[in-house]
Amino acid sequence: MSYDIAAIRADFPILTREVNGQPLTYLDNGASAQKPQCVIDAVTRGYAHEYANVHRGLHTLSNIATEKYEAVRGTVARFLKAGSEDEIVFTSGTTEAINLISYGWAMPWLEAGDEIVLSVAEHHANIVPWHFLRERQGVVLKWVDTEPDGSLDPQKVLDAIGPKTKLVAVTHVSNVLGTVVDVKTICHGARARGVATLVDGSQGAVHLPVDVVDMGCDFYPITGHKLYGPSGSGAIYIRAERMAEMRPFMGGGDMIREVTKEAVCYADPPMKFEAGTPGIVQTIGMGVALDYMMALGMENIAAHEADLAAYASERLGALNFLDLQGHAPGKAAIFSFTMDGPAHPHDLSTILDQKGVAVRAGQHCTGPLMEHLGVSATARASFGLYNTRDEVDRLVEALELAHRLLG
Ligand code: PMP
Repeated sequence: MSYDIAAIRADFPILTREVNGQPLTYLDNGASAQKPQCVIDAVTRGYAHEYANVHRGLHTLSNIATEKYEAVRGTVARFLKAGSEDEIVFTSGTTEAINLISYGWAMPWLEAGDEIVLSVAEHHANIVPWHFLRERQGVVLKWVDTEPDGSLDPQKVLDAIGPKTKLVAVTHVSNVLGTVVDVKTICHGARARGVATLVDGSQGAVHLPVDVVDMGCDFYPITGHKLYGPSGSGAIYIRAERMAEMRPFMGGGDMIREVTKEAVCYADPPMKFEAGTPGIVQTIGMGVALDYMMALGMENIAAHEADLAAYASERLGALNFLDLQGHAPGKAAIFSFTMDGPAHPHDLSTILDQKGVAVRAGQHCTGPLMEHLGVSATARASFGLYNTRDEVDRLVEALELAHRLLG
């Protein structure tokens, strides 16, 4: 299938707007992606014509909402190639998903002295829930550094596993460096040693085809707003045998079969882990976004973005005033950089914004990685399925202007 970039861009209404009198060049997809019209329509329709609470009522609207909401479980399972939709739990995003695993699986199973292996490239969402276990029950966090090119050596991750290691938690794709981690080698190696694996799919599932069974992971969270869907939506793949080991995290309505004054009987998984009224319309919108991506074809999206990554590497690499972080082969189209001289990445991003180029500046919720790289912050340009080579050129022009003004 040919990748019709003009038609794809036309699906995203926001891409036609101007910012500061310039055409918008949206390169902050790593933080959150824009939404195609089909997602916007699904959200509008959900509220305008099909809204009611799910799982509760026996009336028509509740049945429609429930059917549409529950159908997304199958969509997520297809998107991640999970064996069964019963292995999909809905969440509000990756942050909630990893906290669910920390409270629901790790807290009951890990004791003082047990270890969790993490890479320094993790997002705070894949760090802080494990620090909770360190603080509260003496779990030990073991860190694996990235290599000078920003890659993560899977053998070093496996070598960090000891007799007390219970979990390896690594990202699929770094939200700062764009590094694609060889998670299959890590997951299969960890499994052979009897160790569970959580692969943070927040960025990976956006840029690459995912097959959780082939990957061999136990937990794979995704977050809807980076997948061209609404914020407040997300899901996690949990291997069935791990789900059977989990205790519920949040208690409330929907996750129970029966409650009396003396006792509580939980609903079967996955509902057991979904307490309270969920993001109904958000989740339905996420389903439409995943269908949109699958219709384009994840292989096609990945190929388009690989071309952008190669072109951006070449053009950004030629700017001698720019210090690019991470150049591992096959990296995703996510570029972090600082500029020579005293200019802070915030100043850089403000000047780029004047040219309509949206990038993010700061720590990107990766304190340990910033420390490891020896920088306090970076500017980050992160590409998505609708970006073009022309937009790489516009980024480069804006950076050249910033260098003239700030350098
Ligand atoms: N992990 C990674 C790698 C991310 O990039 C992000 C979002 N920046 C998260 C986790 C957290 O996702 P959310 O805020 O959607 O829960």
